Amino acid sequence: MQQIPGAWQRTARGAGLLAPDGSAIPTIFAEMSALAASTGALNLGQGFPDEDGPQAVLDAAREAIAAGINQYAPGRGFPDLLAAVAQHQKRFYGIDLDPGREVLVTVGATEALAATLLALIDGPDDEVVVFEPYYDSYAACIALSGAKLVPVPLRWPDFQPDLDQLASAVTDRTRVILVNDPHNPTGSVFSSEVRDEIVRLAHRHDAIIVTDEVYEHLVFDGPHVPIATLPDAADRTLIISSAGKTFSLTGWKTGWVSGPAELVSAVMAVKQFLTYVGGSPFQPAVAVGLRLSDAFFASVASEMAAKARLLGTGLRAAGFDVSSPAGSYFTVVDAAPLGATDADAFCRELPARAGVVGIPLTAFVTPAHRDRYATLVRFAACKRVEVLADAAERLAGMAR
Ligand code: PMP
Ligand code: GLN
Repeated sequence: MQQIPGAWQRTARGAGLLAPDGSAIPTIFAEMSALAASTGALNLGQGFPDEDGPQAVLDAAREAIAAGINQYAPGRGFPDLLAAVAQHQKRFYGIDLDPGREVLVTVGATEALAATLLALIDGPDDEVVVFEPYYDSYAACIALSGAKLVPVPLRWPDFQPDLDQLASAVTDRTRVILVNDPHNPTGSVFSSEVRDEIVRLAHRHDAIIVTDEVYEHLVFDGPHVPIATLPDAADRTLIISSAGKTFSLTGWKTGWVSGPAELVSAVMAVKQFLTYVGGSPFQPAVAVGLRLSDAFFASVASEMAAKARLLGTGLRAAGFDVSSPAGSYFTVVDAAPLGATDADAFCRELPARAGVVGIPLTAFVTPAHRDRYATLVRFAACKRVEVLADAAERLAGMAR
């Protein structure tokens, strides 16, 4: 096969996604959930709820199947879901969108991210600025696109970027500044200074801002502020979100992208050749979800805040140093007070020591930066209260 110069890194092997024997390297989530299953430990690793989402949304999917909404949806998504996304953005953030041109339905935020990065990146001369630690698919998609990932560190315990480091990471080579706010894996919510600086730098260097807002309704001390609502930001910002976290339906894999029509068109051009369209009966159901009451959306945040507090109390009792999450599913701890020197090894032993699974933060960073996060572990609070209480009890047992 002819080698395309400069494009080698756009292969699975070039992107570092294959083991030397050619097998696919499993994601850290798959690996740690398998560890939980094989040891019977409580899974506070992979972020998925252990309860179903709102009944009205579940019923709407069943009704959609019964009503015969079982063939391909339109490429952009069913018009009613596009309208529901636009109404949601107006209702919560005051963002005006033309649903027929400025919204696109995707197969979860994961496909939205992949299609966006593949659509916007030209190749090896482009750079994508990413806050580290970062969600695992960012690095994989950036590598597959052939671009260079430029990390900006988020530091324990508040996980905000240093503004000078941010400013020096963004240059004229920066094609995209990829923001995840609220942030996985750290649970941080960016300060207004950080958001303002991102917009200022994007303007100065003519970069596009892509915001992954899948935890938008999980800000504990709200409201959530999308970067697109800042002055002069909307015309260069694509927002990505999904139904997974807001409605506790991570297996439905229904997401969306919204923003300027030309950018959304570029994402759609790629998306149609990744999956063509997503699962039809989920779309009317997610539209029902997006139109639920304000009280529902407020309860999503307040219930998760209470769970994060419960988890935090248990983690402190176990002897960890515990950060204070401002949103998302996640709480990060420093396991050094428990004698850990390597979070990865610590997490692999934790099922045997305590019957609980967590995820080492080193799984979310560039290999060269593992030392900065060497003893930090992420725990997910999106589990039933009884499960969190049991986990807290088990972890406290380690300190006794
Ligand atoms: N981005 C972040 C930050 C996430 O935590 C997740 C996780 N589930 C995703 C994207 C993917 O979302 P989806 O399941 O909708 O593809
Ligand atoms: N977003 C979830 C987490 O961070 C997992 C998603 C996945 O397994 N890809 O735990």
